[in-house]
Amino acid sequence: MNALIFRGPGKFEWVEKDKPTIQKPTDVIVKITKTTICGTDLHILGGDVPAVTDGRTLGHEGVGIVEEAGAAVNNFKPGDRVLISCVTSCGRCEYCKKAMYAHCEDGGWILGHLIDGTQAEYVRIPYADTSMYHIPSGSDEEALVMLSDILPTSLEIGVINGGVQPGDVIAIVGAGPVGMSALLTAQLYSPAEIIMVDLDDNRLELSKKFGATHTINSSEGNAVERVMALTDGKGVDVAIEAVGFPVTFDICQQILKPGGRLANVGVHGKPVELHLEKLWIRNVKITTGLVSTSMTPMLLKTVQSGKIKPEQLITHRFPLNQIAEAYEVFKNAAKAKAMKVILYND
Ligand SMILES: [Zn+2]
Ligand SMILES: [Zn+2]
Repeated sequence: MNALIFRGPGKFEWVEKDKPTIQKPTDVIVKITKTTICGTDLHILGGDVPAVTDGRTLGHEGVGIVEEAGAAVNNFKPGDRVLISCVTSCGRCEYCKKAMYAHCEDGGWILGHLIDGTQAEYVRIPYADTSMYHIPSGSDEEALVMLSDILPTSLEIGVINGGVQPGDVIAIVGAGPVGMSALLTAQLYSPAEIIMVDLDDNRLELSKKFGATHTINSSEGNAVERVMALTDGKGVDVAIEAVGFPVTFDICQQILKPGGRLANVGVHGKPVELHLEKLWIRNVKITTGLVSTSMTPMLLKTVQSGKIKPEQLITHRFPLNQIAEAYEVFKNAAKAKAMKVILYND
C-alpha cells in the first residue's frame, strides 16, 4: 500500500509501505476512504513535535471501511463503515473512566504521532471498540471527516470549556478550521453575538456565512480596541483562542469582561505572558485542553440531522495519491483560499 511518511523536519514522502496487520486482538485494520490534513500535521512537519520519528505515517483524521477485525473486537466487523477518532481510548484506565480519553494511559493522541496514522490506504486502529464510531447509513462521509478532530476539539475545548451560554457575547480569535468549527458548534448554545478575529479577509467573509455577527481584521493591531468598541467597553463573556501564538492569547486576555472565560484551544510552541496583575480581580477563568472526543456521539447526531453542516469547511478535494499537492494548498491556505482539504481513496 501507499502512505505519506514523515522524513524529518520539513520533509515528507509518499511511499510504498507494508500494509498494517492486527497486532493485538482489540485492533482493527481500516481501509481509508477519506482523510484530511490538520494544522497539527504542519506543526509536525515544522519539527514542533519531536516524538514523531522518521518513517511515521502522518494523519489522525478519516473515515473508512473495516477490512479486518481482531478476535476481541465486538462492535465492528469487516465491511462496516466507520469514523476514526483522533484519540484512542482503552476504555479501562483511570482517565478513560473519567471520559478524559485524551489522557488514556494506553492511547490518547497516538495516531500519526506515536503510531502510523490515516494518511495512507490502510491504518491499524487499536482499541477499536472504544475508539471508532459506526457511520449512520446515508451520511455525508466528507462531513464526518470533520468529526475525527476539529469539531470535537472546538466544541469540547473551546465552546464547552468556555461555558458558552444563551445570550453570551463571544469572540473567536482565529478563523482557521478549528476557529470556524468553534463558530459552528458555539451556535448550538445560542450566543447573542459572535465576533470573529483573524488576519485574512477571505476567512472573515466566510465566517459571516457560517454565522459570525461581527468580524475584525487584526492586521492593524487594534483588535482589542475594536472588540471593546463593539461591546460598549465591557468585553466579551467568552474568548476562544484558536491560533496558538502569544499575540492571539494576549488579545483574548485583554477582551474578557469580569466573570469572562478564556478557552485556549490553540497549540502553543512558545510561552505567553499572563497578565495576572490585571486579571486577578476580574473573576475570570482560563481553561486549556486536548480533545477527548467524548462529544463525538452527540456531534454525529447533530450532523445527521443537519443542525450542524461541517461540510461547509471543505474547500478542496484531491485523490489520496496527490497528497503532496494537497499539502501545498493547505500550507498556503490564505493564497489558495483553503480551509479543509479532503483526500479520497474510493
Ligand atoms: Zn487534527
Ligand atoms: Zn484508557
